[in-house]
Amino acid sequence: MTPFNFTAAPARVVFGTGSLQHLVREIEALGAHRALVLSTPEQAASARRVAELLGSRAAGVYAEARMHVPIETARGAREEARRLGADCAVAIGGGSTTGLGKAIALEAAGGTVRFPIVAIPTTYAGSEMTPIWGLTEGGVKKTGRDPRVLPAAVIYDPELTMTLPLGLTVTSALNAIAHAAEGLYAHDGNPVMSLMAEEGIRAAAAALPPLLRDARDLEARSDALYAAWLCGTVLGNVAMGLHHKLCHTLGGTFDLPHAEVHTVVLPHVLAYNAGAAAAAMARVVRAIASAGRPAASAPRAVFDLARDHGAPTALREIGMPADGLDRAADLAVQNQYPNPRPLERAAIRELLQRAYEGARPD
Ligand code: NAD
Repeated sequence: MTPFNFTAAPARVVFGTGSLQHLVREIEALGAHRALVLSTPEQAASARRVAELLGSRAAGVYAEARMHVPIETARGAREEARRLGADCAVAIGGGSTTGLGKAIALEAAGGTVRFPIVAIPTTYAGSEMTPIWGLTEGGVKKTGRDPRVLPAAVIYDPELTMTLPLGLTVTSALNAIAHAAEGLYAHDGNPVMSLMAEEGIRAAAAALPPLLRDARDLEARSDALYAAWLCGTVLGNVAMGLHHKLCHTLGGTFDLPHAEVHTVVLPHVLAYNAGAAAAAMARVVRAIASAGRPAASAPRAVFDLARDHGAPTALREIGMPADGLDRAADLAVQNQYPNPRPLERAAIRELLQRAYEGARPD
């Protein structure tokens, strides 16, 4: 057994169909009184429903969340929270909405004010389980870790994911798998996170075929959300490597859709790292095989999983400009960070070319 250190992040999770009904109880347990409900404009109706459920504990609704938390949106939300006298946020939505809650908590944390978040995730991105915040200013996204932005409670209610479109269902599940796959070879990994990662990959892979047949299959929705919790926990507890760095760069610099980028890039990063992380690759293969999909290699297992469920497999399909690949390779090696295989610019450029074309890995 490789020696390890592990300090678990505090996390309160309420999981189950209909668990949204426990929201008031969760707010009361935090000692909070006035919640600002956050969502994207597309999910404003869900936010209003949550506000109704909260009754007098709702301070108001701010349905302006956007991908990558633009600083202007964060400022608007902070101002609205102050104006309405909110003492906590309820974030209903995907990573963009949770991210907005974190942006408010981050600023409140800068002073002496505690501003807890109750997250109600409706995608599989996993932000609700992490202390990672992100803010975009002038086209540049900054991220950091701060334990004070970690949601104080998370309500996972599979019923709220029934409306997630099939395309985003598949790519968001692959986004979750990406956290787990990189967690399996993290330099600061540990056996508990590896168990969660392997089970998360299995559960995500097992949920996709029934969801392809019927996107409103509640049991499969429940499995996918369970996978999101497991994989999000891995993301929050161990360091990510080349895959997350590349996706962050591609998403931020070329404004590509988050879950799709993760889906397309993951098989190619696994191929890049395969020789340097054999044990992790074997666990990815084992997890996907336990979901009924035996495969020759981890990169191929992940590529085929995405392709067979209708997800994009090429960066060129999702808006990546061909003349941006060199810049992306430069940015990926700008700072050194832990990754099983050392960062080699030429090999990463080649990886990006294969991802751009959608080549099936070996
Ligand atoms: P998202 O939150 O941007 O949501 C995408 C779209 O889907 C939005 O229009 C949203 O309203 C809609 N949507 C979400 N759930 C729905 C549902 N159940 N039914 C119908 N529509 C629904 O997408 P995402 O992939 O969840 O999050 C991406 C963002 O989160 C990125 O900015 C990424 O950087 C960030 N993120 C951060 C972390 C972290 O730890 N800080 C982790 C993962 C992702």
